[in-house]
Amino acid sequence: MLKKLFQSFRTPVRRPQHLRTTPEVLNSGQHSLQRHQFSRHAVGIVERLQNAGYQAYLVGGCVRDLMLGITPKDFDVATSATPEQVKAEFRNARVIGRRFKLVHVHFGREIIEVATFRANHPLDEEEHSNQSSSNESGRILRDNVYGTLEEDAQRRDFTINALYYDPVTERILDYANGVHDVRNHLIRLIGDPVKRYQEDPVRMLRAVRFAAKLDFGIERHSATPIRELAPMLREIPTARLFEEVLKLFLNGYASDTFEMMVDLELFEPLFPASSEALEDEPTYTHTLISEALINTDLRVKQGKPVTPAFLFAALLWPALPARVLRLQSRGMPPIPAMQEAAHELIIEQCQRIAIPKRFTIPIREIWDMQERLPRRSGKRADLLLDNPRFRAGYDFLLLRESAGEDTDGLGEWWTAYQDANDSERRGMIRDLGGKDEGAAPGAPRKRRRSGAAKRKGADAASGAGE
Ligand code: ATP
Ligand code: MG
Repeated sequence: MLKKLFQSFRTPVRRPQHLRTTPEVLNSGQHSLQRHQFSRHAVGIVERLQNAGYQAYLVGGCVRDLMLGITPKDFDVATSATPEQVKAEFRNARVIGRRFKLVHVHFGREIIEVATFRANHPLDEEEHSNQSSSNESGRILRDNVYGTLEEDAQRRDFTINALYYDPVTERILDYANGVHDVRNHLIRLIGDPVKRYQEDPVRMLRAVRFAAKLDFGIERHSATPIRELAPMLREIPTARLFEEVLKLFLNGYASDTFEMMVDLELFEPLFPASSEALEDEPTYTHTLISEALINTDLRVKQGKPVTPAFLFAALLWPALPARVLRLQSRGMPPIPAMQEAAHELIIEQCQRIAIPKRFTIPIREIWDMQERLPRRSGKRADLLLDNPRFRAGYDFLLLRESAGEDTDGLGEWWTAYQDANDSERRGMIRDLGGKDEGAAPGAPRKRRRSGAAKRKGADAASGAGE
C-alpha cells in the first residue's frame, strides 16, 4: 500500500504537457503489439470500415492492456463512420444509446463496441451547440458531438486510454503521449485536470480504478485536485454510480481501490455513513471492509462468483451500530431498532448509489441472519442451516469476527455444527442450555479497539503528501 500511495504522489516524469495535433506514430517495430493479439472480430470490423472508406482503429482499454501484457476485457473500435453508417455495414449491428449513441456488433457472445469519433466541448462553445450541454459546475450532461480523430483523442479521459491501433498497418497513433505514460506506469488526465474532472467527476473514480488495476501511480497534477473535487460525485446520477462502484469493487483490485478512495477522499461522497463509521471506529471499520474486499478480490481471481449484496452488506455494516444505539436511546427495543436502522441506512445509501432491490433485499437478509445466528436452541439451528441465505450469513459472521467483533465463539460453533453428525449436533444444542436465548443483540457488539486509532489511509497520505 505504501508503494501505491507513494506512486500516487510521484513527481511526474519529465514530459511535454501539450497535446499533439499530429500524432506520434509508432510503426510495428517500435511497439510490441501484434494484430493477432486482438479479437479477430474487432480486427474484421476495422478492416471492413476502412475498406468502406472510413477511418477505424482499435482504441482504449484493449490497446493499453495488451501493451502491458494484460488480457483485455473487451475490444472497442473508434471510427469516423456515424452509428447509422456503421449499422449499414454490419447485419449483426445494433445502435444503442445511453449517454451517447454507440453501435454494438454482435458475434455470438462477443460484442464489439463501435463508437463514432467524438469531440470534447469546451464550455465557452456551449451556447453554439445544441447537441452538447453542461451544467453550471461544468459537468457534461449530454455528449453526442461527432468529431475528428484528433478531437476524439482529446476528449478521452487518460493518456493511456487514448491510443489508437491500426491492425492493418500495425501502427499506433498517439496524440497524448500515452505510450510514454504506459511505459512509465502513470495515470494522467488529458488536458487540464480540474476541468476534466469538473466535466465528468466519475473520472476521479476511473483514475483510482485504473491505478489499482494496473498498479500505476496517479501523476501528481491528476491526483492533486481530487480531494477538493470529490464532493462533485454527489451530483452524479445514482444509477451510474452503482455501475461504477461495481466496477471499482468487482474487478479483483477492490482492496487497493478502497485504500486509494479513502486516501483521496472519494469514499465519503459515495458512502457517507460508512465514512462516518471510519472516523468513529477506524480500526474496526477499516478492518471489516478491507477483509471483505480482500476476500472478494481472491474470489474474483479464482473465478468464483461474487455477489454485490455481500459486498454492500459489508461496506455498510459498520454504519449500523450508531444508528441502532440512537434508536434504542429513544426507547426502541434492540431488535426493532436493528430493523429500523437497517431500513434507514439503506434508504440513505440509495440517495447516493442506487442499489437495486434485487440486492437490497439480500443485504437485509444477510444482516437479519446476524441476529438469528446466536439463537440456536430447539430446532432453530437446523432451520437456519436450511435457510438459503445461511452461507452468506455465516460468512458474514466470520467476517465480523475477523474484524475483531466479540461474538462469544459463535463462528467457531457454527463451523463445528456444520461438520458434526446428527447426534453430535443434538449434543451441541443440549450444551447450549438456555445460554443462547438472550443472545440476540442484533447490532454489532462491543469490539476490541487497537491503539492505532487513526485511519491507515489518512496516516499514510499525510506522510506521503509532503
Ligand atoms: P476497461 O474496460 O478495462 O475497464 P477501458 O479503458 O476500456 O477499461 P471503458 O469504460 O470501457 O474503459 O471505456 C472505453 C474508453 O472510453 C476508455 O479507454 C476511454 O478512452 C473512454 N472513456 C470512458 N469513459 C470516459 C470518461 N468518463 N471520460 C472520457 N473518456 C472516457
Ligand atoms: Mg473497455
